[in-house]
Amino acid sequence: MLPDTAATPLDVLRRVFGYDAFRGDQAEIVEHVAGGGDALVLMPTGGGKSLCYQIPALVRPGVGVVISPLIALMQDQVDALRALGVRAGFLNSTQDLDERRLVEQEFLAGELDLLYLAPERLRVESTVRLLERGKIALFAIDEAHCVSQWGHDFRPDYLMLSHLHERWPDVPRIALTATATAATRAEIATRLDLESAKHFVASFDRPNIQYRIEPKNEPRRQLLDLIRTEHPGDAGIVYCLSRKSVEQTAEFLVAQGIPALPYHAGLDAPVRAANQARFLREDGVVMVATIAFGMGIDKPDVRFVAHLDLPKSVEGYYQETGRAGRDGLPSTAWLAYGLADVVQQRKMIDDSEGDRAHKHRLSQHLDAMLALCETVQCRRVQLLNYFGQPGEPCGNCDTCLAPPESWDGTVAAQKVLSTVFRLDRERRQKFGAGQIIDILLGKRTQKVEQFDHHSLSVFGVGADLSEAEWRGVIRQLMAQGMLSVEGNYQTFVLTEESRPVLRGERQVMMRREPKKAARSRSRGTKPQVDLPAEAAPVFERLREWRGATAREQGVPAYVIFHDATLREIATRKPADLAALGRISGIGENKLAKYGEGVLAALAD
Ligand code: ADP
Ligand code: ZN
Repeated sequence: MLPDTAATPLDVLRRVFGYDAFRGDQAEIVEHVAGGGDALVLMPTGGGKSLCYQIPALVRPGVGVVISPLIALMQDQVDALRALGVRAGFLNSTQDLDERRLVEQEFLAGELDLLYLAPERLRVESTVRLLERGKIALFAIDEAHCVSQWGHDFRPDYLMLSHLHERWPDVPRIALTATATAATRAEIATRLDLESAKHFVASFDRPNIQYRIEPKNEPRRQLLDLIRTEHPGDAGIVYCLSRKSVEQTAEFLVAQGIPALPYHAGLDAPVRAANQARFLREDGVVMVATIAFGMGIDKPDVRFVAHLDLPKSVEGYYQETGRAGRDGLPSTAWLAYGLADVVQQRKMIDDSEGDRAHKHRLSQHLDAMLALCETVQCRRVQLLNYFGQPGEPCGNCDTCLAPPESWDGTVAAQKVLSTVFRLDRERRQKFGAGQIIDILLGKRTQKVEQFDHHSLSVFGVGADLSEAEWRGVIRQLMAQGMLSVEGNYQTFVLTEESRPVLRGERQVMMRREPKKAARSRSRGTKPQVDLPAEAAPVFERLREWRGATAREQGVPAYVIFHDATLREIATRKPADLAALGRISGIGENKLAKYGEGVLAALAD
């Protein structure tokens, strides 16, 4: 049922995958690799990287060998391909000898189109000999940034992949990653010997993701509000910094009736695997996780990614938020961030091990992240510029939807800095932001009286701003490097940057939060409901059918059909198999396998 080798890439796209047209650079990449060329592909998550090697593997004679570090996901990837009628298999350490033998036989007999391989398999000489006995269509190196030692995903086994070229000089190689900075890209090219390969760098824009960053007040309440008003019943990921806050947040959500599960490195492997499987297989599960979760998760219908703590870098933030909306449907990336985040992260850098250069790099990453949080410009433009790409104000981020004002905060900054300067004389004491604000507001608290702070000249000079506004001022001074924290007491101290402000030589612009937080798209209704009213119940019925079928077959629901496909079916209500086959995402195999079931569900 698979196209023969004379099939063109477009035939394969239509008949096997059921899609009408290639997206972006896909056509060019596929043609280049199918023709035997090497490629390095940088494309954001959800950009459609898989087809870039799957289709050349199908049109070239032999087996496409895919190197991937994501062992826990190989079974699902292979299941998804088999559902399309593609003959796929994998070899990794989770298999017993018999299972491995079977795949090896299929490989040698030419009965596979794609073989997924964990990189450490290549360390085993017998695997290399096995590969030498079969016919290889191409090597695809997925998550290619794992070869970079600067990134946090470094896998030593990836370094061996440079030998592929020596052993198989005639087999094309395609390396793919969603990690974007120029430095990482250069490192990948060098280490994988892909300098003379053709480089394809896609736009990193993810137009369907709405970026929002708001001040952190009561983070769990804010999160709950986001889920209840905008994403009820949706699948989502909530990132927290610590294991403890992962557990507490998951418990909180569950107590509020939201199906949430925890995931962090401190959980036993079977628990982690079970939670991941539920997240992938069931509809509408919220995963509360540390950043240990997520690489390679290709669940297409994650509708929101929420950060309850400040990410350490823009790269990390972009990768994590990129896990939302791979299916191209509207999705939300939401981050709550506050003064305590800045204090904590600065302190973590101070306390971190490593030389000065290392700390400096961490600081630069944090500064870029803070600049994103405090910007009054379009968030998307700022993100794209960070990755060296141009952008236009997008109309789909919080600053575009409800532009924050910027105001001259010079005097406010001077008030805070001179308070810090005065408190600095009492070094032994710990005075946090609360004390500074109490002094500025002229509050005679116990702690103010105890230290005689009501006699300071700055006492009560800040009645013009509210407590929340003062917190904003202090946060922004921290973010802009005009205020710092020191020592275990976390006392605020002045920096080199503060002096010109105090001397009145430097203006400080600040961001004022818009009164009403942006919540655009659909004024609080859920994005799902862009469906015409009469199609909504049909969509729900199709989802039920899909859920039942997925359980029966033991595969994630999206392996059967993506939401986008179900939505199209619900709107167009095809009357017969021929009409159904014209819907995007329904190829020949799925039509044969599920066509009757879908029509029956529609007829109900
Ligand atoms: P990536 O690996 O780059 O994150 P995927 O390969 O998982 O992205 O593709 C993202 C989604 O887009 C998948 O659901 C995939 O089926 C879909 N997709 C990819 N290419 C096309 C296309 N040409 N037409 C329609 N859908 C596509
Ligand atoms: Zn914007």
